[in-house]
Amino acid sequence: MAVQVVCTTLLIEKSPQALPLGAACIATAIKHSQELRGLCEVSLTAFCLEDKDFPKDKKSASEYIADKLIEKTSGCDKAIFCFSCFVWNVGILEVAAKKLREKGFVCIAGGPEITAHPDFYKAFNYTVSGEGEITVPALIAKIIKEKDGVEVEKTDKVIISKSPELDSLYSPYLDGMINPSEYEGALWELARGCPFKCAYCYESKGEKTVRLFPMERIKAELDLFARKKVPQVFVLDPTYNVNKKRAVELLRLIASRTPDTFYYFEARAEFIDRELAREFTRIPCALQIGLQSANEEVLKLVNRPWDKKKFIRGIGILNEEGVTFGLDLIYGLPGESFGSFREGVDFAVSLLPNNLEIFNLSVLPGTELADRADGLGLEYEKEPPYHVLKTKLLTSEDMERARKLAAACSYFYNSGRAVTWFGSVCKVLKIKPSKFFELFYQTNSKVCEDNCSCECNHIEIEKAQLDFLKGLFTERNMVKYIRLVEDIVRFYGAISRTTDTGRVETLSLNYNAEYLASDYASDIRWFYENVKPQKCKIQTFMNNGSADFRFVK
Ligand code: SF4
Repeated sequence: MAVQVVCTTLLIEKSPQALPLGAACIATAIKHSQELRGLCEVSLTAFCLEDKDFPKDKKSASEYIADKLIEKTSGCDKAIFCFSCFVWNVGILEVAAKKLREKGFVCIAGGPEITAHPDFYKAFNYTVSGEGEITVPALIAKIIKEKDGVEVEKTDKVIISKSPELDSLYSPYLDGMINPSEYEGALWELARGCPFKCAYCYESKGEKTVRLFPMERIKAELDLFARKKVPQVFVLDPTYNVNKKRAVELLRLIASRTPDTFYYFEARAEFIDRELAREFTRIPCALQIGLQSANEEVLKLVNRPWDKKKFIRGIGILNEEGVTFGLDLIYGLPGESFGSFREGVDFAVSLLPNNLEIFNLSVLPGTELADRADGLGLEYEKEPPYHVLKTKLLTSEDMERARKLAAACSYFYNSGRAVTWFGSVCKVLKIKPSKFFELFYQTNSKVCEDNCSCECNHIEIEKAQLDFLKGLFTERNMVKYIRLVEDIVRFYGAISRTTDTGRVETLSLNYNAEYLASDYASDIRWFYENVKPQKCKIQTFMNNGSADFRFVK
């Protein structure tokens, strides 16, 4: 009986972003290994925290995984399990592996968390650091051949793997190992490696080279996405637009082969120019851009050179061309004070991102930052997720304040889809965005902490936004603006919901919707002083792919 090999992992959710790509890549490499031909059968099994039967507590979760894996190999005592480990699932997978080893099975672990410190996790027979497509099949062949069947090694072994040539790899999508339809989308690898060396990133210690997947594979995968009508694709290339020629070529290919698929890219604002921005507008897509801090000294400390002028220019082009983008910020960076973090939030909001994601810095093992953390005065959790707890300039109270501010931003600005009107509201109130978020958290902590960010929630978020704004305008003796602000929030809220769902909404407004939809609404004071109230009723609807409105009686 051939040895059963199961590549497995635990997912946070069943979504395209969480799809088990790493485990699938290893399974595909095993499937196509010449050395393993006829020696084993490989399969992919992904567990998910959201599965109906999946236990809630960690201990039962590990036992559940071990039991299901044994069941999966249906009594085959010669089984090998390959675990794909991330910072947040490694604890559960380690305990599952321990149980499997006790029963005589071989457990191999890889993935980002193992790559970071392969000698730390002792529950597995073997830990493989780095990309496993060459190493894992070779290891399995060795285990099977040398032992004339599978035996459990008594000692743990750490293997540092060799990076494969990307044109030698088979695609897990093309060989059917993973079906993007099952996840309602795909994670799409275009390249591996990064030319930059941000100290907090796993890439910081790697070679500064970028390896590209061959165009033939990319085209074949695109055709597959088209055939399967994949609705969304998350592009895995940390700096998609550093090579502009290739970025433009790919965007044109995407536009011609999958015009209806929504794409998410990570990009560098400094390298955006008009031509590239226009190519982005030709496909449905959104960009996520790492700002991380708006303090050049802070960014220097983590090896992230930043050209503020070029950054602002690139973002300006995106706004002018109408490309949807979001920004990322980090709190807990060395050299950042609470004041400079707040300035970063204010700067980021001023650039009109569609969403602003604010993360606690993690000091990941294996990164340059982990080596320098003591010298930089970073105190952080010694276990996943390795969050920074305090720094020389940020007390633990500051960190907690930053966390709350981030939660309020996520709820009010991101889930509340406030980008169109948030700046004008802050302007008329003469309040900085960071202060606004802090005030919002003070009276809305529960909703901020419980924010599930699901689409169905937007009406409730809008109600919380309106209640808070009414209170703020009343407190500041600015009651006269409330009717107008209410109209603006409700009008853009309805438009955004129609964009998402296609559903028609009917609204009664105090001001003419034509004016609310115009640039006049970006200056609330001016609008109030120059535009007369004029009651109207409108209906939102989809018009050639975007939300529009019409007047109704
Ligand atoms: S954070 Fe992004 S840009 Fe920086 S090294 Fe990592 S992958 Fe590259």
